[in-house]
Amino acid sequence: MSQIQAIRGMNDILPEHAPLWEFFEDTVRGWLRSYGYQCIRMPIVEQTGLFKRAIGEVTDIVEKEMYTFTDALNGESLTLRPEGTASCVRAVLQHNLLYNAPQRLWYMGPMFRHERPQKGRYRQFHQVGVESLGFAGPDMDAEQIMMTARLWKKLGLQDVALEINTLGSSEDRARHRARLVHYLEQHAGLLDEDSKRRLHTNPLRVLDSKNPALQALIEAAPKLLDDLDEVSLKHFEDVQGMLRAAGIEYRINPRLVRGLDYYNFTVFEWVTTRLGAQGTVCAGGRYDGLIAQIGGKPAPACGFAMGVERLLALLEEQQFQAPGQPADAYVVHQGDAADRFALLAAETLREQGLHVILHCGGGSFKSQMKKADASGARYAAIIGDDEAAEQQMTLKPLRALGDQARMTIAEAADVMGNKL
Ligand code: ATP
Ligand code: MG
Repeated sequence: MSQIQAIRGMNDILPEHAPLWEFFEDTVRGWLRSYGYQCIRMPIVEQTGLFKRAIGEVTDIVEKEMYTFTDALNGESLTLRPEGTASCVRAVLQHNLLYNAPQRLWYMGPMFRHERPQKGRYRQFHQVGVESLGFAGPDMDAEQIMMTARLWKKLGLQDVALEINTLGSSEDRARHRARLVHYLEQHAGLLDEDSKRRLHTNPLRVLDSKNPALQALIEAAPKLLDDLDEVSLKHFEDVQGMLRAAGIEYRINPRLVRGLDYYNFTVFEWVTTRLGAQGTVCAGGRYDGLIAQIGGKPAPACGFAMGVERLLALLEEQQFQAPGQPADAYVVHQGDAADRFALLAAETLREQGLHVILHCGGGSFKSQMKKADASGARYAAIIGDDEAAEQQMTLKPLRALGDQARMTIAEAADVMGNKL
């Protein structure tokens, strides 16, 4: 019978990678706490209409990347979430969280997009998403960009560069759209199929095309920056002033338009050249129109999402070694009384906060000691029938010089609690 495999583009994350993922997740949790963000967890499946409404019908995600299916029981159209912002905003509105105060929220988890799998691009991938709802000022845009910079520092991440842009207000974009459509129509013969279709549905998206044949045309296109009104320009300049004051380097990339429709004003991406074509590790911006678009009372908002696989790939690229988490003790035991006592002794040590692996499955002392060594544990805690009779263990250091010594479980806990 043929072996069943995981679905293409959906990865198992194996134990050898666990230390890296755990290091990342722990760091992220501490970092978010230090900025006062609270965790929110949304379902992985939502009504398809939510994403169509929030992300926009004429986007790569909604046009071709969503895992959409019909619920066989009631005929509803459902979709595996391709991103978290839409669900997060839906949850905030459904539970009326903006009623009393603005919200700083975050979530972490798998997202699903039906893309061509390649390095850094998967069909199930993970994001950490951060959303601030109810904040209108440029200070929040700056906070979010500054906090990403701090995370890279905490992770020891190198070689990421910040690009920012502004998409202006919807009025700015309407003006710009007219100029852009005029320009693109004049060069309609050069457009590819996707771009021709988007010329009238969503012309800004044409600028986001990755088609090399279009790059010269895109480069020469009218710039949104030239169509901004004073309010939009001031917001953008305020954000930049705050970044400069914080010593954060950035480059203005007028072509940065983001793949989702809901953004306005500030947008940003952190990019690296060390991961090939999939170089964006974090992306976000302001989306003041989204809450109303989903049916809520209008409120400003901004947020960003990081691609966890890409960040971890970059850390691995840098030869980063995640701190190991070896057990304190590996309990080796032989004999009927010893086997019974070892189970209890291990529990007693865990009660003291120690990490303990109990040998299971029998075998000679010699083979058990080999396993103790291979486990990476700091000590072997050896229990024979002699030790068991006196409710003791023999503690042998495995990673440092020192003699083995026989002692009570409480004494052993003291010795190991005192972590060298
Ligand atoms: P890209 O241009 O690479 O397709 P995107 O604009 O579609 O990215 P967002 O929707 O902004 O990406 O998602 C935020 C981040 O999530 C990206 O910057 C990236 O790091 C990560 N990401 C997006 N799609 C994938 C994927 N298919 N596999 C792995 N990571 C992804
Ligand atoms: Mg994409």
